Amino acid sequence: MSSIFGGIEAGGTKFVCAVGSGPGDIHAEIKFPTTTPQETLGRAIAFFRQQSARSAISALGVACFGPLDPDPASPTFGHITTTPKPGWAHIDVVGVLRQALGVPVGFDTDVNGAALAEFRWGAARGLDTFIYLTVGTGVGGGGMAGGRLLHGLIHPEMGHIRLPHDHQADPFPGICPFHGDCLEGLASGPALAARWGQDGATLPPDHEAWDLEAHYLALALVNYICVLSPQRIIMGGGVMHQPRLLPLIRAKVQELLNRYVQASAIMEHIQSYIVAPELADRAGVLGAIALAMEAVRPPTQPPPASAIASQGEE
Ligand code: ADP
Ligand code: ZN
Repeated sequence: MSSIFGGIEAGGTKFVCAVGSGPGDIHAEIKFPTTTPQETLGRAIAFFRQQSARSAISALGVACFGPLDPDPASPTFGHITTTPKPGWAHIDVVGVLRQALGVPVGFDTDVNGAALAEFRWGAARGLDTFIYLTVGTGVGGGGMAGGRLLHGLIHPEMGHIRLPHDHQADPFPGICPFHGDCLEGLASGPALAARWGQDGATLPPDHEAWDLEAHYLALALVNYICVLSPQRIIMGGGVMHQPRLLPLIRAKVQELLNRYVQASAIMEHIQSYIVAPELADRAGVLGAIALAMEAVRPPTQPPPASAIASQGEE
């Protein structure tokens, strides 16, 4: 009998809770708006209690908006940290859920969750170093390096990198409350809306907005490619629903790299190098389920260097 897992896609505007074990196996799902922590986590707990009365849940995973503390060795592991979202700063999400539900809780950024789901079931199968970038209300990136989800000091903040910004060509100052014209400040959904005076969803495909949007995203991708050498970049989020964006970004990435990175994946097969999520808008909630699976089954460690060396000598 296969195990059942619970997952929470904990977003700044909505929570999605589900139980199941993968894309073809979701037994129940519920969505509700993110209000106060007490009310929102309370609704999640009620849902999982009701579900576990039917069949026991082995573990819970939370793919969460951030910034957050994903380090299990830290005293504030499982907390959201400095979010400007009212009421949510320093909330112990994992502690509350673990105490109420009594199961192991996996916890990571929403984008690392989505990256893990794409790794298990989607566009990153078989890869060990890749990026999952979301361009929506915010811009955020997660992924893996050498088969491990990207962590470190805290977690990557790929949305807040600085880019060349030609103020003459684009006088828009950017909307990031911390940095103004970082990537998120220039290219998130709300930045698009503020710059052009209408929501990205209503901007026509031939609007000049898309060329500029693709320009900033391509600059960001080129930086990630140079730093991490990802085997693939997966781009999700509401803004990427504009179908012109992916082809524009691919062309600009090639142009910016100028054949310097000698990889056929980029030079000849870029349409399968910069891609949409295979799990589409399900990557978030499936990521939460995948994090639950990791909570009870730690990822296999890469073999020690000596083992690799001795294999090579055989
Ligand atoms: P979130 O980031 O909050 O999880 P989404 O990934 O759905 O949510 O992103 C929401 C953002 O995407 C909004 O700013 C919205 O304007 C923008 N958006 C949604 N649909 C489109 C579209 N078809 N084209 C461009 N932008 C869109
Ligand atoms: Zn910023």
